[in-house]
Amino acid sequence: MQTRLAEFIRDSAEGREAEAILRKCVHCGFCTATCPTYQVLGDDLDSPRGRIYLIKRVLEGAEVTGRTRLHLDRCLTCRACETTCPSGVRYGHLVDIGRAVVEARAPRPALDRLRRALLAFAIPRRSLFGAALAVARALGLQPRRRPAGAWPQARHARRMLVLAGCVQPSLGPSINAAAARVLDRAGVSLIEAPGAGCCGAVRFHLNRQDDGRDDMRALIDAWWPLVERGEVEAIVMTASGCGATVKEYGHLLASDPRYAEKAARIASLTKDLCEVVDPEAISATRSRERVAFQSPCSLQHGQQLRGKVEGLLVAAGYTLAPVDDAHLCCGSAGTYSLLNPSLANELRARKLAALQAGGPRSIATANIGCLSHLQTAAAVPVRHWIELIDAAQA
Ligand code: SF4
Ligand code: SF4
Repeated sequence: MQTRLAEFIRDSAEGREAEAILRKCVHCGFCTATCPTYQVLGDDLDSPRGRIYLIKRVLEGAEVTGRTRLHLDRCLTCRACETTCPSGVRYGHLVDIGRAVVEARAPRPALDRLRRALLAFAIPRRSLFGAALAVARALGLQPRRRPAGAWPQARHARRMLVLAGCVQPSLGPSINAAAARVLDRAGVSLIEAPGAGCCGAVRFHLNRQDDGRDDMRALIDAWWPLVERGEVEAIVMTASGCGATVKEYGHLLASDPRYAEKAARIASLTKDLCEVVDPEAISATRSRERVAFQSPCSLQHGQQLRGKVEGLLVAAGYTLAPVDDAHLCCGSAGTYSLLNPSLANELRARKLAALQAGGPRSIATANIGCLSHLQTAAAVPVRHWIELIDAAQA
């Protein structure tokens, strides 16, 4: 697409990147077929092609209105469009650039600003979020959490770091403990670094991009001593949403002279859990229940990892239930389900219908956000896939 970027952005790193991305888009519209918001709303401005056009106009200096912001807010950043695009358009990078400009030029109404400020304040603070969740559980508004079980001693020479994250220790403490047990049986000790907090995705995707980058730098600082001393061979992500972000650290901090190199090193060491669990090390001693796997967008589109978890579940004896439209988002998308509840709930209803059609006993997923979002309306338990592998080995 021919572009003539406006002066305010033309000579910046963001401007050059946006222009290169925009030039790749040939406006063919193939991506609309796999865009969840276009499927629900049927408006071209709620499709990747329409949003790319809106961002192009914004960067060319056109007026930015509340409607421009609305169409960008409705995007789940699921990146299904990137998987579909035959021209290799990096929509995710473009929408980050477009959103930063739109946020600055079209101020939000006060209530919207307050809601977002509260989320940006509370979610990345583990103890505050945990306390709020404990109150919600005491009032019966949230299901009780599953006990974590024992975390094995760090006894192996092979060690990997694992991210605790911000909301996962409160919502699903059994996930990292199960990962530690499965890897311990395979001769790898999983350790958490003291002081490691949120990966930055929450505040970055709430369009507080500078605050999100601060979280990323703080996490790098917490991990760096162990990485620098060569004490860990990988950094393992048990939430695919965090993994998709940490793998992008090299890109997201490329303009920061103090952190660019460290960020690239951290990104290169980062692996989703399904990349480090060896299917050969999982033996199926008996056949197990029927499971439907919900592949999070951050796993299949963000990290381009498809089929690995399914292979591990089969290796552990589970039978996979067929799932239609497995490429579509469940509507969770970080804080999206809280900010756009009607679209998120519609997408969840469609996703659950597809997941439950094959009669599974449970649903497996790879991301705490999807797990919590699906669980509130699912007819069967929703678990992280590593908990099912752990249960099969116990
Ligand atoms: S993003 Fe890709 S698939 Fe979508 S209109 Fe542009 S070139 Fe076509
Ligand atoms: S990221 Fe997802 S919701 Fe956003 S335009 Fe692409 S396919 Fe549509």
